Parts: sequence; C-alpha cells; structure tokens
Amino acid sequence: MANKKSDAGTKEMTVAEKLHALYELQQVATSIDKIRILRGELPLEVQDLEDEIEGLQTRVSKYKEDIATLEKSISGKKQEIENAQGLIKKYEEQQNNVRNNREYDSLSKEIEFQTLEIELCEKRINEFDAQIKEKTEVIEESTTLLNERTGDLDTKKKELDDIVSETKKEEDQLEAKSDNIKSMLDERLQAAYNRIRSNARNGLAVVPVERDACGGCYNKIPPQRQLDIASRKKIIVCEYCGRILVDDQIMEVEGEKEKPKAKPAEKAKATEKPKAKPKPKAKAKAKK
Ligand SMILES: [Zn+2]
Repeated sequence: MANKKSDAGTKEMTVAEKLHALYELQQVATSIDKIRILRGELPLEVQDLEDEIEGLQTRVSKYKEDIATLEKSISGKKQEIENAQGLIKKYEEQQNNVRNNREYDSLSKEIEFQTLEIELCEKRINEFDAQIKEKTEVIEESTTLLNERTGDLDTKKKELDDIVSETKKEEDQLEAKSDNIKSMLDERLQAAYNRIRSNARNGLAVVPVERDACGGCYNKIPPQRQLDIASRKKIIVCEYCGRILVDDQIMEVEGEKEKPKAKPAEKAKATEKPKAKPKPKAKAKAKK
C-alpha cells in the first residue's frame, strides 16, 4: 500500500479503483466507529458514578454538620438544666428564711417555673437525640452505598482504561490506514465522502447493494441501475439517501490480494491427509 500511495499522486485512478478505495475507507471508518461506541458509554457511566458519589459525600458531610449542631444544642439545654437546678436550690434555701407566706408562695412559683423549664429542656434533648439517631442511620446507609459506588467506580474506571489502552493501538493503526486511503483520493471525492458520512445517521457514506436494495436506506434499486453500479464506470449515489453505492463484489477483486486471506487456505492444506490432491492446491495458489 505504501508504494501505491506514491503512485497515486501522479497516476489517475480508475473509477473502479476509486470505488474500491472509498469502500475500504468506509470499512476502516466503521471499525473506528465501533471502537468509539464501545468506549463511548463507559465515560458516561464513570461520570454518573462520580456524580452519585459526590452527592452521597455531600449528604454525609451535611448530616455530620447537622449532628454537630444538634449536639451543641443538647449541651446548651443541659447547661440550662444545670442553671435551673441551681436556681431551684437557691429558692429552696431562700424559702427557709422567708418573712411571710406571700414571699414563700412567690418562691414556690419560681421553683415550679424552673421545674417546668427543666422538663421542657429534657423534652427538647429527647427530640434532638431522636434526630441524631435518624441522621446517624442515614449516614450509615449512605456510607455503605458510598463504599459500594466507590468500588463500582474503580471497576468502571479500570474497564475504561483497559479498553482505551487495548484499542488505542488498533485505533491508531486504523487512523493511519484511513489517512493513507484518503491521500489516494482527490480532494473533491474526499469532501463528498466526508459530507455524506456526516449527514448519515449511521456513519455510512459508502454502502454495497444488498438483496437488490441500498445497503444504507434499504430502498430498492432497479436492475439497470444495479448493472451500472456493477460496471464501476462512474460513481453512482443512492437516489433516496445520497450514499455512494458499490456492488457487493467490490472488495473481492483487488481487496482479496491485500487481505491476509492466506490462512484458511493453508489450514485447509494442513488438514488434508490424503497425499497429493492437485486440485485444491491449485485453487489455493490461484486465490493467493
Ligand atoms: Zn440509499
């Protein structure tokens, strides 16, 4: 292929060669698309997990703050109780030294009031405790979920890294092949190919005729048009979808030679036990 490239600039390609190159370019592009699709969903999944983890972390830290505030409120209430108890003690002592019943009753009322205050504080403390318990449960649940999701994220990230590193070489090779083919095509044809491909939803710009129909949009192609396509005398596009049409034999004539298709033939030879069968051997050679 490398030497073909240098020829291409000087020698005009035949339409058949152009069609062949275009279809090969399409196949390379489809392979690259497949790699990107394979990888395409993983970054999204990784992103989703990262978002979820962030949400859980925010929730946990907010609840921890809430608990700290509640604990502060509880110690505040406990301080209030201590103060009230101190006052009650003071009032009780004063009751021992009162001059009349009115003073005694007034102090009794104060003691009663402080006792109610204490009860109220205890009630609030119980409420705060219940809230702390509730929030602690949520934190525990969220932490469990957080650990699970963090594990999932590690797995997904590793999967993505593996795919990227695994497919990187293949992708680079395909890109190089694509560039190589493109360099053989004139700019006008490249532009047309790029335009059709970017408009096609499935990324197919060059499609074979399959079962009398366009391989891109599946509309029927009349027999005469199919003959025109098969003759490879000019570039024909589908009248429905605008994709470049090639006959389904396009890769078999020249393409077979470039592809390492020798293996199946060799395998067949190796499994052949009977001594010398001249016919299949000749066939294998001819195919090469
Ligand atoms: Zn079509």
